Amino acid sequence: MTDLPTITSITARAVNAPLERPVRTASGALESAPLLLIDAGTDAGITGRAYVMGYTVATLEPMRAFLANIEAMCVGQPIAPVDLAAGFENRFRLMGRQGLVGMALSGLDMALWDALGQVHGAPVVQLLGGTAMPVKAYDSYGIVDMPEDAGVLERSLERGFTAIKIKLGEDDVALDVATCRAVREVIGNDVALMVDYNQSQTVTETLWRLDHLADFDLYWVEEPVPAEDLNAHAEIRAGTHVPVQTGENWWFVSDMEKAVAAGACDFAMPDLMKIGGITGWQKAAGLAAAARIPVSSHLFIEASAHVLPVTPTAHYLEYLDVASTVQESPPDFKDGHVTPRGPGLGMVWDEAAVKRYLL
Ligand SMILES: [Mg+2]
Repeated sequence: MTDLPTITSITARAVNAPLERPVRTASGALESAPLLLIDAGTDAGITGRAYVMGYTVATLEPMRAFLANIEAMCVGQPIAPVDLAAGFENRFRLMGRQGLVGMALSGLDMALWDALGQVHGAPVVQLLGGTAMPVKAYDSYGIVDMPEDAGVLERSLERGFTAIKIKLGEDDVALDVATCRAVREVIGNDVALMVDYNQSQTVTETLWRLDHLADFDLYWVEEPVPAEDLNAHAEIRAGTHVPVQTGENWWFVSDMEKAVAAGACDFAMPDLMKIGGITGWQKAAGLAAAARIPVSSHLFIEASAHVLPVTPTAHYLEYLDVASTVQESPPDFKDGHVTPRGPGLGMVWDEAAVKRYLL
């Protein structure tokens, strides 16, 4: 056996962090970031840290209580996130791990990988066998108001982004067309432009809208229809040349496997909080590699920067910063790329800010 430190406590705090840019989508808006900050205490004196995004503050207290309830299952166990994830999979087989349970377990997994990295004095990407190389990112917007938002788009280009995602579908197709035209005028033709419908359309509406957007060289269309409707995604793929992107709502690698089997997407974007943390991501990365599907991340800039360098079909990191306001420093960003920071996942809570936004 090893002399790995063991877990001594699992605690979590709910905060409602402000967003620099509120995120408006065709399926509702995020004015702030309801986050659950997870701390895994160890007998090595280090604390593993991670966060999950609750989307609404109503989810935070149930996740916090769930983590408190499973603390006793973790205390005394070595910091071995793969072993613990296998144990949880077994333990929660009867009820399933989708939903808040899956989010809490995924967050805990990330906190444990962070602890493991700190124990070894290394960034998590090194534990995974990779190097802390810069990862190509795209700047991720909500619905943009043109021409008012032209200045912030120009700022994205100045910061070195070569890909930009906007959300569409809030109104009729004329607004989609006007928005894409105005955005293309600002970013030019050499910057990749992705669009996200946040599950708001039908197959017919999507194909009709994409026909109207044919002039704008869209790099991907994301979640045009409800995420769980894999056949609808496949029908859209068959009806358009625009690559279909989905994955942020897959629960663990089993959901991803169904999507791949259904031919639901050209590109994949698992979310660390829903795919099973870093442990789950590794399974997703293997599946994507076998299926030759390019993989981007969803939210979680800090942890995503550690897993993408060891993802064989790595594509883009989504740059949507929801948690810098509660950390001592923002992600290590330069020229459109994020470099993973250590030790662990490289996140340190700004305790004064946490106190300010604590729920
Ligand atoms: Mg999306």
